[in-house]
Amino acid sequence: MNHYKIAIVGAGPAGYFTAQALQNEANDERTFSIDLIERLPTPWGLVRSGVAPDHPKIKTVAKVFEKVAADPNFRLFANVELGKDLQLADLTDRYDAVVLCTGSSKGKNLGIPGEELPNSISAAEFVPWYNGHPDYEKFEVDLSGKVALVIGAGNVAMDCARMLAVEAHELDETDTAEHAMKKLHESEIKKVFITARRGAEFAAFTAPELRDLPKLEHTDVYINQDDIDMAQTRAAAKGEIEKHVASNLEAMRLIAESTKSGNEKSMEFLFQYVPKEIVGSGKVEGVIFDTPNGEKRIDCDLVISAIGYESIPYVGVEFEKGKIKNVDGRVANSNIYTVGWAKRGPSGVIGTNKSDASDVVELLLTDLSTPKNVGDITEVLKSDHLVVDQSYWQRINEAETKAGESAGKPRIKGTSIEALLSLGRP
Ligand code: NAP
Repeated sequence: MNHYKIAIVGAGPAGYFTAQALQNEANDERTFSIDLIERLPTPWGLVRSGVAPDHPKIKTVAKVFEKVAADPNFRLFANVELGKDLQLADLTDRYDAVVLCTGSSKGKNLGIPGEELPNSISAAEFVPWYNGHPDYEKFEVDLSGKVALVIGAGNVAMDCARMLAVEAHELDETDTAEHAMKKLHESEIKKVFITARRGAEFAAFTAPELRDLPKLEHTDVYINQDDIDMAQTRAAAKGEIEKHVASNLEAMRLIAESTKSGNEKSMEFLFQYVPKEIVGSGKVEGVIFDTPNGEKRIDCDLVISAIGYESIPYVGVEFEKGKIKNVDGRVANSNIYTVGWAKRGPSGVIGTNKSDASDVVELLLTDLSTPKNVGDITEVLKSDHLVVDQSYWQRINEAETKAGESAGKPRIKGTSIEALLSLGRP
């Protein structure tokens, strides 16, 4: 019987699905001790700080994560930062394999003039801000203007736009961070544009998310019917329209045809708007676009770019093109592997990480030989380091959930490291 020790860094969906894939591979010949290391005092990654608060069903996957964590051979080491509290070599020396599931948390730059103006922000800041990520507790979002403009045609852009375009009271029973709820209740934003640089046939939105939009009670959603007709014609001219494109266009057509109720708040999609410059004196006042009908300016008070993410590099492994340099999840000449956005870039839904993890674990298993059996993370961490282990996290989780009960919310989140640590203190 071989007993292997595996360290996983990053307790988001990729980390948990990697642990689950390893647990599924345990048998009479091999078992695995899994140590899951996480920088924040809270696990669950994007399920906690990425998924939009008004999409609670997506977050139910956390039940799977907690089941993984209940295995006696699983340990959580949260509040432990790679590069600060320990180095990658501390793990590669001691564990049979190290799986990096550190995601990609930096927003890609547009690379156009004016991007640095105040009130031009990234979804990589706005999303963790409304979700109560401790790094963004003090982030300032100015919602005092009337018009917001979101650049990008993916689901993150749609989440950002929807969070601004619904009435704040519709979010009262969600786990949106308290600081964000206060700002959203005071928000003056009435109109939110979503701009796509290409035609509707290339939009990265997914159909279920689009289909939810006409159901919004207090927000009118506009798409120009001509944009959909032209997209359909262009796509058909290239041959058979792909299934996901057809259902996206169909969902967009339903939005175009939906009855508008004259709501004060609205969302409007603009296609073939290539951002050229963000303009304003002292702060954002508008965005200039190249369009098929020439240059157009849209006046706005806030710009959110939601054009994808890249990994923030760290020492001990090579990064290229915003990801960890790897071949199918293997990092060359090492016992390091990677799963999730750190491996493949910021694509796919949460479930995509499940198959990704299984594929990488399959490779990892073929590389394993005799177990190292030379200690673990506990030898490296300072004796007074406050580790948030599974029971500490459970206390945080219970305290947050209990705080939410009286307000009819799934939870009220601790939004600073100190607050989270004190919520779980025994
Ligand atoms: P995404 O789906 O890759 O969309 C990025 C968008 O940004 C694309 O429309 C892209 O247009 C555009 N873009 C890129 N560079 C640009 C530039 N320089 N100027 C203007 N536009 C630019 O990324 P995402 O929205 O960040 O989402 C990441 C992943 O998370 C996706 O797989 C998404 O489905 C998933 N997600 C899922 C949900 C959900 O299931 N509810 C929610 C949120 C996120 P081009 O196509 O022209 O490059």
